[in-house]
Amino acid sequence: MQPTVVMKFGGTSVADAQKIRRAAARIVAQREAGRRVVAVLSARGHTTDELIAAALEVSAHPDPREMDMLLSTGERISCALCAMAINDLGHRAISLTGSQAGIVTDTSHTRARIIDVRADRIRKALEEDMIVLVAGFQGVSTSRDVTTLGRGGSDTTAVALAAAVSAEVCEIYTDVDGVYSADPRIVPDARKLPVVSFEEMLEMAASGAKVLQLRSVEYARTHGVRIHCRSSFSDATGTVVVGEEETMENPLITAVTHTTEEALITLSGVPDRPGAAAAIFTALAEAGVNVDTIVQNEPKGEGVQAEVSFTLAADDLHAAETALGPVATELGISGIALDEQVGKVSIIGAGMRSHPGVAAKVFQVLAEEEINIEIIHTSPIKITCLIREDAVPAAVLALHTAFGLGGGEQELPIGQQSR
Ligand code: ADP
Ligand code: ASP
Ligand code: MG
Repeated sequence: MQPTVVMKFGGTSVADAQKIRRAAARIVAQREAGRRVVAVLSARGHTTDELIAAALEVSAHPDPREMDMLLSTGERISCALCAMAINDLGHRAISLTGSQAGIVTDTSHTRARIIDVRADRIRKALEEDMIVLVAGFQGVSTSRDVTTLGRGGSDTTAVALAAAVSAEVCEIYTDVDGVYSADPRIVPDARKLPVVSFEEMLEMAASGAKVLQLRSVEYARTHGVRIHCRSSFSDATGTVVVGEEETMENPLITAVTHTTEEALITLSGVPDRPGAAAAIFTALAEAGVNVDTIVQNEPKGEGVQAEVSFTLAADDLHAAETALGPVATELGISGIALDEQVGKVSIIGAGMRSHPGVAAKVFQVLAEEEINIEIIHTSPIKITCLIREDAVPAAVLALHTAFGLGGGEQELPIGQQSR
C-alpha cells in the first residue's frame, strides 16, 4: 500500500487564490510522488476573526452552538476552493466537512475535544485514488451538532486524522519555517529548532507559542504521530517534534514564549476556612473555565481573610465572572478584581531540570529591564512570570539574549539532533 501523508495548511497559506493554487500544487506534487494525501485546511486569512467580529456585532455573548455553526464555515470555503484547484490540475479531489470526515467530538461548543475519528469514508476515497480535503477545526458532537475545536484547532484535526489513517507524517504548513526559539515576530534573531521534544513542545504550546495548538501536541504524543512543522512558502526542512528518547542532548534553555491573551482575577476577603477554594474552583470548572496559575495569600492572624488570585484565558473572563457571582455571595467574598492588562513570559528547557540558578537569572534579567514580576509559576522544565502586558516584548527580547538563544538559524539535518 502507498504511504499516506497528512498536510495541514494554515490561514495565511490559503489566504488568496494564488496561495490556494500553490497549496493545491504542493498537494498534487506529494500525490505524484506516490503518496496518498489527506489535506486539512484552515479558514482563509482573517476569516475566523471576521466571523467572530460579525457575531459580536449582533450579540454581546453569542450562543456557543450558533457560534460553531458560523465559525465552521470558514474552513469549508477553503476546502471547496482547493478541491476545485486540484481538479484543474488533473487530479480528483473531494472536500469533506469535519462531520463528513467522521470527526466526533464532545459537546463543549467552541472548545470541543475529539473523542473518535471514524475515518472509513476517508479511507474509501483514498482507495479510489482521490485526494481528500478535510475542513479543519471542526467536528460533530455526540448530540449531532457541529462543533469547533478552539483557536488553532486545525492542527488538532490534522494530527487526529494522521493517527486515524496511520500517516507516516503529519506536515503542518505555516507562515514560518518551523518552531523557533521565540516568536520570530518579536525576536528577529530567533533560531529555528530542527527538532524539539514533545515535553518541551507541550510546555511551549501551553505558554503561548501558537505555532502548534496545545491539543495537537498532546494528541500526537498519545498516538505516536510524527509532526513536521514547516513553511508553506519554501521547501526547507522545518521542525520535527520527537519523543524525549530521540533527543540526543538537552540544552539548558530551548525557547522563550509569551502570551498577552491572559487575564488575572483577584478575589479579596475570602474566608479562611476549609472548602472555600473548593467552592470557588468548582464553580469555575462547572462553567468550563480553564484556570492556570493559582496563588493564595493567607496573612497570619485570627480571623484574617485570604486573597486568591488566578490567571485564565482572557476569552473566559465573562464566563468566569458569571460563575463567580453566586459563590462570592455565598462565601461573603468582598471583592472581585479583573485585570486584562497582564501577560506572561516563560522560558522552557529540559536541561534546566539539572541546573540550579536558572530562576535567579530570569529574575535578574527582568530586574535589569525594570520589569516587575507579579506572579511566578514553575514546572520542572519551565519558569513563567506574570508581568504587565506592555512589558512583554522587552522581557522576551531580554531573556532570549541573556540565555544565548539567538544567532540565526543553525540548520542541522533531521536525525542529527544536537542543537
Ligand atoms: P497558521 O495560521 O499557519 O496555523 P499560526 O498563526 O497559528 O499559523 O501560527 C504561526 C505563528 O506562530 C507564526 O506566524 C508566529 O508569529 C507564531 N509563533 C509564536 N511563537 C512561535 C515560535 N516559538 N516559533 C514559531 N512561530 C511562533
Ligand atoms: N481558523 C481557526 C482559527 O483561526 C482554526 C485554525 O486556523 O486552526 O483559529
Ligand atoms: Mg494555527
